[in-house]
Amino acid sequence: MEIISHDQRIVQRSYWFIKLRWLAIAGLFLMILFALLMNLKVQFFGLFIILAGLIIHNLLSIRLLKKLELENRLGVPVYRHVFYQITVDLIFLTILLYFSGGMENPFILFYSFHIVLGAILLPKKISYWIAVIATFLFLLLGTIEYSEILPSYSLGLFNYSTFNLQYILSLFILFSVTNFVLVYLVSNISDALKKQEQWLFVTNKKLIESNEQLKDKDRIKDEYVSRISHDIKNDLSVIQTNLTVLKKQIPGELTDSQMKFVEIALKRTHQLSDFTSKLLKITRSRLNKTVSKEKFILNDVINRVVEKMKPAADEKNINVSVKLEDTLQAYGDSFSIEEAIMNLVSNSIKYTPDNGKVNIIGSQKANYNEIIVEDTGIGIPKAELNNLFTDFFRASNAKQKKIQGTGLGLSLVYNIIKNNSGFIKVESEENKGSRFYVNIPVAN
Ligand code: ADP
Repeated sequence: MEIISHDQRIVQRSYWFIKLRWLAIAGLFLMILFALLMNLKVQFFGLFIILAGLIIHNLLSIRLLKKLELENRLGVPVYRHVFYQITVDLIFLTILLYFSGGMENPFILFYSFHIVLGAILLPKKISYWIAVIATFLFLLLGTIEYSEILPSYSLGLFNYSTFNLQYILSLFILFSVTNFVLVYLVSNISDALKKQEQWLFVTNKKLIESNEQLKDKDRIKDEYVSRISHDIKNDLSVIQTNLTVLKKQIPGELTDSQMKFVEIALKRTHQLSDFTSKLLKITRSRLNKTVSKEKFILNDVINRVVEKMKPAADEKNINVSVKLEDTLQAYGDSFSIEEAIMNLVSNSIKYTPDNGKVNIIGSQKANYNEIIVEDTGIGIPKAELNNLFTDFFRASNAKQKKIQGTGLGLSLVYNIIKNNSGFIKVESEENKGSRFYVNIPVAN
């Protein structure tokens, strides 16, 4: 549901009211046609004048409402406008009733519609005024008819001997009581709804504001993390180079125990470097949501990934099979998509025990390419699948088996695929294996 202010809602409802009047105009037109066809004794001239008057009234109402909206004069001016519309409607209704049988016409019930509409749209006080006007007009109609100041146009529904002062008076009392009770009931319900609407509007506005603030803070955090990771990465690469020089024993020979310490330090530095570069990539992909897209052949990207991952797979004697449909034309940032597929394949190799299998399948569906990366690895516990793509998430079984990781790879994959208008999902069973599905748009 669209959340708009109460004043705007009143404008919307006024347009709805105007639409209702078009329906009433069409109804009246049909009734006149019907009366013409059936040769009924009705004042056609009077009815046509009312029809034309109603059309002009509705056109004027639209114009005025549009003007108020354009000048942004909502609130009280719109209330006044609705009040004016309902009052004119009531006058037209009274004239219409006069020409079509007066108080004996069952359409006198139509007064109530306007009273209900007024109570819905307008503040309570003004709604009571509508009831007063309706009651006055009804009284006027009865008086004209009873006093015969003007000629009356009977429908021939009543026998005039029963249509006496007593009848008119009781009808009038019933009519006025009904009107005021209607205003009381409807405006109470409508007031409660208006309050709720107002509350919803304010709450929603606050929610939108805090959401914007959160987004801002998130962006600042990403910028901050990105800067720090960048700085750490630079220092790390200097440490790494120095440790490598030491390991190669260029400055002088190392004892066995010295070499052990250097190797541990080098291994930890590699891990830290991997962590910071993933952190850097992830924050950058979040900060730059727009990527430069182009047409490319997905087969080339996948084959490159397999080529790069071959040594890691061979080391664990894992068989990597690739089944791709001919020339999969894709659209996106091939560089980051390669990074995403690389992460998936690297995970599959990492989380699959020696002698296992990894399959990569690529095919074209309706308007996207589907790439499946599946393995016969340790799988992911069902209860943890929902958190798989969040930052720093590591499944309990991977931690138990002490397999090294940062918990950032899949988060990066998710961002890359999202920025390339794609989609990723996973199916997995613990100790059986995992299957990742990636959709990437096809090139037109
Ligand atoms: P990392 O592998 O560095 O820990 P990822 O974000 O790439 O980080 O993966 C998050 C977690 O998802 C991993 O720690 C692991 O528990 C689980 N995971 C990812 N890929 C697989 C896979 N192919 N098989 C089993 N578990 C996986």
